[in-house]
Amino acid sequence: MNLYVINHGFHYELENVARLFFPNEKITVVRECERKEEPYIYTEMSDKLTVEVKAGDFNKSLNTENTGEDNEKELSLAQMLYKLLCEFTGINQPWGLLTGVRPIKLFRNVSNEQGFEKAKEIFANDYYVSPEKLDLAVMTEENERKIIELSKPDSFSLYVGVPFCPSRCSYCSFVMSSIERAKKLVDPYADLLCEEIKLTAEIANKLGLRLETVYFGGGTPTTLSAEQLSKVIGTVNGNFNMSACREFTVEAGRPDTITAEKLKALKENNVDRISINPQTLNDDVLREIGRKHTVQQFFDAFALARKCGFTNINTDLIAGLPTDTYESFKNSVDGILALDAECITVHTLSMKRSSTLTEKGVTIDREGAETTRKMLEYNQNELLKKNYIPYYLYRQSRMAGNLENVGWSKKGYESLYNVYVMDETHTILGCGSGAVTKLKRNNPDYLERIFNFKYPYEYIDRFEEMIKRKNAISAFYTQ
Ligand code: SF4
Repeated sequence: MNLYVINHGFHYELENVARLFFPNEKITVVRECERKEEPYIYTEMSDKLTVEVKAGDFNKSLNTENTGEDNEKELSLAQMLYKLLCEFTGINQPWGLLTGVRPIKLFRNVSNEQGFEKAKEIFANDYYVSPEKLDLAVMTEENERKIIELSKPDSFSLYVGVPFCPSRCSYCSFVMSSIERAKKLVDPYADLLCEEIKLTAEIANKLGLRLETVYFGGGTPTTLSAEQLSKVIGTVNGNFNMSACREFTVEAGRPDTITAEKLKALKENNVDRISINPQTLNDDVLREIGRKHTVQQFFDAFALARKCGFTNINTDLIAGLPTDTYESFKNSVDGILALDAECITVHTLSMKRSSTLTEKGVTIDREGAETTRKMLEYNQNELLKKNYIPYYLYRQSRMAGNLENVGWSKKGYESLYNVYVMDETHTILGCGSGAVTKLKRNNPDYLERIFNFKYPYEYIDRFEEMIKRKNAISAFYTQ
């Protein structure tokens, strides 16, 4: 599909709108037009704003006056394109023409600026968000807002990354190393990670910052041994001022990495929230997606965590996994609800460019997108019936059916970190390979990023060089 972009610079937004309807097609942006090559989307800004779609028998165009600010012109072009593509494909997108990662933050910002009712009106009438997703956005925003209000001007959260996993999930694009292949790296990595944590704590303490939440993610932090976990988590507890810390999460994501010793190490080090992620309660689907554990291993790990005293456990599910069916997904939701987990995070499969699935040429067709929509609908109905609340939501590109990821929890068990990171409420100090420190200033909003090296071997080999970047934290706060 050719996307002609004539006399304007809004190609990014228009390409994103086109991609909602043609997720598997190559969209080529063309900036000059001598002859339109079919199939095409033609957009032009002259005395009028014009959009035309021609593909097969379909050929329609819309236009409007070329007036207003740039953002209004961009929205007008996007709206016209959206309408034409809805007509051409017969598909209405659940989130309308919204393509960003943070629709809830957008709703909050519009609501703060123009009022709640106006924000609803804009979402429905300007962005064409469906009534169902608008309801979900309103519910989620209300729950997020209460958490955001807990953050103070000097608050920050700490992220610690452990980039090792037992095997690669077929949908993953994260830079991780298989623990088997990276065995030799793990000890030096853990040692340097402790060094980075100490140095980061020193900076935060000197600046008098207030640590609100800690999150160990990755990768799979519980690929580390019990001793390594004690050492790294103990370094956080021993060096940061933990007096204001409200939440300490460790992603024990893969059930096949969980042992009683590791859970004991987490508990002894004041970890109060863990994630154990089955993704599906269907063994065939687990095999299909390259996770080397069984459903029974998940149940055993969950029971063990309860036995070890964990009273706040999150479980992740993914809707739209290859070979999964509506019935099987329903069974997964029902099975997780029967466990009475405090948090249930339900993702929609996203076809990330560098994932094994995409490399293999797997795509999501219309039927798959519709099944995924029904899966989320079932999930939402059941979770609401059981009094779970949606407390954070984000979207990614190339998601099945252009749907969403939602964190659900029982009241009082919302993960604060998830909200802070998605809303960009306050500074996140990141340690470990792949971690990104995000320095946040409010009023006006300003975000500065410091990147750590992505790969564990780079992190180890170039640690001294990388660690110098952390000086930017003090510089940011003392400016
Ligand atoms: S457990 Fe998570 S980080 Fe590890 S391979 Fe699977 S999706 Fe990627």
